[in-house]
Amino acid sequence: MLFEGVFWRKYKFFGEYLVSVSKKIKVCPMCGSRDVYVVDGGVMGMVYRCKQCGYEGSFIVEIDEDEYEDFVKNKNKKSVND
Ligand SMILES: [Zn+2]
Repeated sequence: MLFEGVFWRKYKFFGEYLVSVSKKIKVCPMCGSRDVYVVDGGVMGMVYRCKQCGYEGSFIVEIDEDEYEDFVKNKNKKSVND
């Protein structure tokens, strides 16, 4: 079998179509909150703001929704080790 594991967490057959079941979400790179929104978009690119920590910038973490839990876990692990 060519596709295994991770692949089938992200894709499913919907009738005869193979569709992505994962949804991309934007996450704050500073605190890991999903509570981010776009404050500006133009020639300079998108600017995001985080409601939780007040982060503002064009850099944002974009991950699959089903990877968010792992992302938070890893983030917490890191801060504990620090
Ligand atoms: Zn934040």
